Amino acid sequence: MPELPEVECLSRAISKVALGKSISEITFHRTTLREPIPTKSLEDILINETIEQITRRSKYMLVKTKKGWGIFHLGMSGNILCYDDPQPQLPHTHVVMRVNDPASSCTTWLHYVDPRRFGLINACTHQELPNHRFFVHLGPEPLETRNLGGYLFDKSRQKSTNIKSFLMNSKIVVGVGNIYANESLYYAGLNPMTAAGSISLEQFRNLSKAIKSTLRKAIKAGGTSFRDFKNPDGNPGYFRISLQVYGRKGENCSKCSTPIEEIKISNRATYFCPNCQF
Ligand SMILES: [Zn+2]
Repeated sequence: MPELPEVECLSRAISKVALGKSISEITFHRTTLREPIPTKSLEDILINETIEQITRRSKYMLVKTKKGWGIFHLGMSGNILCYDDPQPQLPHTHVVMRVNDPASSCTTWLHYVDPRRFGLINACTHQELPNHRFFVHLGPEPLETRNLGGYLFDKSRQKSTNIKSFLMNSKIVVGVGNIYANESLYYAGLNPMTAAGSISLEQFRNLSKAIKSTLRKAIKAGGTSFRDFKNPDGNPGYFRISLQVYGRKGENCSKCSTPIEEIKISNRATYFCPNCQF
């Protein structure tokens, strides 16, 4: 599943292709993904308007023009690929956007592909963005929150929920997906079942450092959940960061050689070292 680092990498890659250019045409091969695409408002906001910014909020890629924002979410299996051909190159190509460069009269096409159709495409005006239903309940961005440790500490007081579920709750903080939660808790030496409310400020500071460095490593590596993911230029190019616990049940902990254990928390695979994480 595309996670924060993958969407960050995608946004940066699409910026290179589309920033300062404009979308002159959008072809909808399908108009419903997880929910109907508001085709008319998407066209109103994007067509023939200069693309001023491409950014990311949580796992949404946002495309800014003078009129508002195009909103793209990749769901479980989505991707946006860049081709010099408007014809769908892959099955499940739902939307194709023609990107024109007025300076060079060069044309490329962005293909939104999503086999499982859990993705979303939407649009909103500048005024609507802050209170948009996709964003209004989201917690802060981990990489842009200075005192993330203090923030998480404050949020967690009196909470009996386990720290792993707490971290993965996007209302608390966005972008800490299952792989990143597992890995960060290992680096911080915290058992995933620990009650969030019992963790000290010092421990939250260490955990926040671990979250940030894990996400940064993944962004640097190009994202870690890759099965359906390719660079927008079509080359498969995403590399795994070296994972210490995730997917390593029964292998030896690299710090103490105790076998890594696997449990389920909220039905998600959870890996930890029973010796190093308590
Ligand atoms: Zn260990």
